[in-house]
Amino acid sequence: MIDLHKLPPEGVRQAGTTDKLELEGDVSLRDLAWSVFVLPSDGDVFIEVKGQALWQGCCCRCLAPLDRPLTVESQFLGSKDADLVGRGSHALGSQDLDVVFLPEDSLDEAELVREQFELQAPMHPLCAEDCKGLCPNCGKNWNKGLCHCRPEADQIPSALNRALTKALAGIKLDPES
Ligand SMILES: [Zn+2]
Ligand SMILES: [Zn+2]
Repeated sequence: MIDLHKLPPEGVRQAGTTDKLELEGDVSLRDLAWSVFVLPSDGDVFIEVKGQALWQGCCCRCLAPLDRPLTVESQFLGSKDADLVGRGSHALGSQDLDVVFLPEDSLDEAELVREQFELQAPMHPLCAEDCKGLCPNCGKNWNKGLCHCRPEADQIPSALNRALTKALAGIKLDPES
């Protein structure tokens, strides 16, 4: 925890490493190295988070495990001033910083690091741009060859099949496709 009331004028820098950090949805980060710098600025605080890690998750179409290097470098202003937060940005020196509402008197650096990495995590990661995904019928990974399912149009839909098709239509593995 960084006490925002007792910040020295030159600021506080903290750095650390974390072997593994679990994020939401079967995603984790490995080998994190991070640093947080907090500098008082006219009652507000300038915050800089830098770090790198290996993101581990899976392809959003075929669910194959994936990893990606992830780099975080973000700077923003933390403020208690609702007006300033409402304006959304604040010029500091030559920089135009986003303003984040920070009503607390202390800053949890671990939570801050987790948040910033979560923001950088890939939203719709693909193992390859042309990943073919999984057969909605049998679940076979089409990247490894086609399955023997007949195209839907050929099927004589049974009541069960109709219900299943309807259920599957509501599930989108990749909203962009
Ligand atoms: Zn894939
Ligand atoms: Zn199939």
